[in-house]
Amino acid sequence: MLPVIALVGRPNVGKSTLFNRLTRTRDALVADFPGLTRDRKYGQANYDGYEFIVVDTGGIDGSEEGIETEMAEQSLLAIEEADIVLFLVDARAGMNAADQAIAQHLRKQQKKCFLVANKTDGIDADSSCAEFYQLALGQVYHIAAAHGRGVTQLLDVTLQPVIAELAAQDEELQQDDAQLAELYLEGDEGVDEDGKSPFEDKPIKLAIIGRPNVGKSTLTNRILGEDRVIVYDMPGTTRDSIYIPMTRNDREYVLIDTAGVRKRKKVSDVVEKFSVIKTLKAIEDANVVLLVVDARDGISDQDLSLLGFALNSGRSLVIAVNKWDGLDDYVKERIKTELDRRLGFIDFARLHFISALHGTGVGHLFESVNEAYESATKRISTAMLRRIMDMAQADHQPPLVRGRRVKLKYAHAGGYNPPRIVIHGNQVHDLPDSYKRYLMNYYRKALNIMGTPIKIEFREGD
Ligand code: GDP
Ligand code: GDP
Repeated sequence: MLPVIALVGRPNVGKSTLFNRLTRTRDALVADFPGLTRDRKYGQANYDGYEFIVVDTGGIDGSEEGIETEMAEQSLLAIEEADIVLFLVDARAGMNAADQAIAQHLRKQQKKCFLVANKTDGIDADSSCAEFYQLALGQVYHIAAAHGRGVTQLLDVTLQPVIAELAAQDEELQQDDAQLAELYLEGDEGVDEDGKSPFEDKPIKLAIIGRPNVGKSTLTNRILGEDRVIVYDMPGTTRDSIYIPMTRNDREYVLIDTAGVRKRKKVSDVVEKFSVIKTLKAIEDANVVLLVVDARDGISDQDLSLLGFALNSGRSLVIAVNKWDGLDDYVKERIKTELDRRLGFIDFARLHFISALHGTGVGHLFESVNEAYESATKRISTAMLRRIMDMAQADHQPPLVRGRRVKLKYAHAGGYNPPRIVIHGNQVHDLPDSYKRYLMNYYRKALNIMGTPIKIEFREGD
């Protein structure tokens, strides 16, 4: 599971600065999805090898009634969705009424909440921060986000216990996974004696994601068969997706339904229905991500951000261009050209043109989902990986670097889901990206891997 940290506080206390320091990404996901009243920024971050999500709530101004008004609604939702809330105050400016209003709200929440005094550089932090104890939120943690001071210690205190807790909850699943990984890496000759991969019998977790109104619910209902939707109540907050076990052509799946089909009747508006965190968690938890886009809207920047998250997580991917009904040929051609242009960077994902409403193309979607999963969990022998490496090198030798030719010597499997290949050799760290891409594509073709990214790691030496 993916812990979520929300940064709250009035404007100008340093939330963006801390956000940038924690995420160190340029491609934060800015949620200006239709129906969301206020921008929030989402970023992936890493602590001690663990992924987590940081949300910059964009600032609660904390004016007396402001806190409960529409303006703050998105920030309040972010607080609700978070595992940890970091409440930032400005150690230089001192405490003010807005801080008090926010604190009052936070005290009412059943949340792990930490009070963080920022901008403690160059001042006497202890005496400047003393007044914040009046906010009655316990210890005041000192940081200087702009300089990174105190940030690691803050994560040690706030995030470490949550990660430990989640890890304990997940332990069984992780053991399961570790066993599979071991089997995979042992599988030097590709398959078991019975020719089966250890993943064949596991249900495929398929997350259906996309912006509001692209047709996720319609598709989910179509897949499940409208009247076969069995209603069983599962507890869940806005941030929880619904997990629906299903069987199709003798294959088991678990649909991760981010649109909340089950809750449909109660859901009143887009804000309730759509949650970025829910989507990010679904991606993290899935084996295969099915991104649904609306043919009429094309690929938006938000779709690209969601794709970026999926890629970072190494997930397998299938893209469904929905609402392909009732378009004339000219429009269809134009849409296809535009998609090719915008999706050029993920050439491994299959693209399907479907109509969830009429059910056209849905069967083929599943062929690609299966293919992507099989590709991601394929067992590949060391012998095979080496042979392909040699072939690639013979067809097109690596370049000279500083007068010496880069030499690839040895390859072996590094893991699965996504497939990881480890290549040892001389000066491999100097390999240009173009050659790395060449190798990746070579492996992709030779191993017939579709729908999943391939990661190649290079190690210096034998
Ligand atoms: P936000 O509105 O809460 O997102 O605040 P910003 O991150 O935009 O920061 C507001 C201002 O405070 C900017 O001018 C930052 O450069 C400054 N700032 C942020 N962190 C620090 C810090 O640790 N020390 C000092 N001296 N200034 C900081
Ligand atoms: P979600 O918010 O992604 O779950 O989207 P919905 O499934 O609620 O669909 C949003 C709207 O698009 C509804 O009015 C659907 O009837 C419509 N819709 C969904 N799929 C299709 C499709 O394949 N073709 C057409 N023409 N409309 C569709």
